Amino acid sequence: MADLPGWGEGTAHADEDALMAGLAAIVGRTSAGIPRGIGDDAALLAPDLVWTVDAQVDGVHFRRDLSSPADVGWKALAVNLSDVAAMGAMPIAALVSIVIGDGDASSIEPIYTGLEVCSRLYDCPIVGGDVARGSGLALSISVLGRAPVDPPGRDGAQPGDVIAVTGTLGESAAGLAALLDPTLRDLPGADECIERHRRPHPRLVDGALLAPYAHAMMDVSDGLATDLPRLARRSGVALTIDLDALPMHDDVHAIARTLRRTPGVFAATGGEDYELVVALPAEAIAACGVPLTVIGRVEAGPVGVRFIGIGADEALRGWDHLA
Ligand SMILES: [Mg+2]
Repeated sequence: MADLPGWGEGTAHADEDALMAGLAAIVGRTSAGIPRGIGDDAALLAPDLVWTVDAQVDGVHFRRDLSSPADVGWKALAVNLSDVAAMGAMPIAALVSIVIGDGDASSIEPIYTGLEVCSRLYDCPIVGGDVARGSGLALSISVLGRAPVDPPGRDGAQPGDVIAVTGTLGESAAGLAALLDPTLRDLPGADECIERHRRPHPRLVDGALLAPYAHAMMDVSDGLATDLPRLARRSGVALTIDLDALPMHDDVHAIARTLRRTPGVFAATGGEDYELVVALPAEAIAACGVPLTVIGRVEAGPVGVRFIGIGADEALRGWDHLA
């Protein structure tokens, strides 16, 4: 390049998945000794060692008027731990990189206080990091974890498997809605939903229990409608998902209806649930020891996700990070 007029010259990809595929084409060569690289919730550095990274950016992933600095610190670690959980692993330790803008210096300690609470609860010590100056506040955390059994990726779903999910969906989205619209805060369950939005809990124990049974597993970070097509593509299978079967708390149902949203669609597109979604043989549901809700099935056929149930005709699109 003779001159450097603001850069460019790469492809501007249409969405996050296309961007990830483009970047994987540049850096995603397989290295000898690395069992699994790009494509799952975390990479596999050794048969039992998983490694993930995730960033939280001011104004994109959190808003200062909606979350405290301690909430931001908690969540930045928790979302990484959720990726570790999706590999059936337990955390070993984390590295924390924080970029601070003008006037942010006094926010760092409160952020770290939230980080530390999450770190202690989930036994993931913070062993190092970096503080840099930038144009705004952002946190990037990387977590190393150990997997007791061969981690299920996103690529192992088999025709005949059922699709099941831990916990309940839609609470985080309901909490965000209640934060944005104070008139919703009097509805039953709104406070619990807000708490879940601000401080999600990674399903580490469930992930470890599910790993021996799961043919495929991932965490629900962007909403089922965005996440499940990734699993379908990686596994090369057809998924049928019943929106009426999605596990939702009654209060979330009511909040969705107040928002004039179809509850099943609300639960499938809300995002930030940080539950685990698994493909596994039906017999494993009872054996695995984790409370699960069956929401669909895996079939041979055109690769992708077909939604059925109330609202399936609505456009189903989850959160896209580049949108
Ligand atoms: Mg994930």
